[in-house]
Amino acid sequence: MSKIDTIIFATNNAHKLVEVQALMPQGIELVGLAQMGIHEDIPEDGDTLEANALQKARYIYAKTQRNCFADDTGLEVEVLNNAPGVYSARYAGPQKSSADNMAKLLHELRGQLNRSARFRTVIALIIDGREHLFEGIVRGHIIEQQHGTEGFGYDPIFVPEGYTETFAQMPLAIKNGISHRGRAVQQLVDFLSVRK
Ligand code: IMP
Repeated sequence: MSKIDTIIFATNNAHKLVEVQALMPQGIELVGLAQMGIHEDIPEDGDTLEANALQKARYIYAKTQRNCFADDTGLEVEVLNNAPGVYSARYAGPQKSSADNMAKLLHELRGQLNRSARFRTVIALIIDGREHLFEGIVRGHIIEQQHGTEGFGYDPIFVPEGYTETFAQMPLAIKNGISHRGRAVQQLVDFLSVRK
């Protein structure tokens, strides 16, 4: 088992990189795609979060032969058979507008009493050619109007279980402590900590 000191995070989102780096065990440095000189769009056309996360991680592993991981996230609404799910970013069209996506979802749920939903993040890790999947889930519900200005995506309409405020009304540190992404990253960190 080789020692891991650097690992590629298959993202071009500098904010995500900083956020996830802060959660890594000491001695593990994350490297983003920009630092690797990789600027192309990585294909992600799978039907599931797992397929997309694996597709992105495999693409980067094939290109670099280096340990790497990729993530994919979706909002799964119970009464919509877990839609928009893997299509969350493009729910209202290819423009990937959060405002349009939220408007469409609120329209779909008009008059609906069951508003249960969950965010799910899947991380695909490839270490020495071996693949590992980690998952993080936060349950909650979709409210009827947007509240709050923090965060991004569907945050203004999602209230996590046990709370009365939306993700967009919470400081980032609180959201990260309970969020789908925070939980998936924690699984990854636990795995890497044991291996170190
Ligand atoms: P991605 O996996 O980061 O590309 O996320 C897919 C889509 O899910 C994004 O375009 C967002 O609309 C939504 N999303 C992902 N994470 C969050 C979150 O933490 N809060 C709200 N929406 C999110």
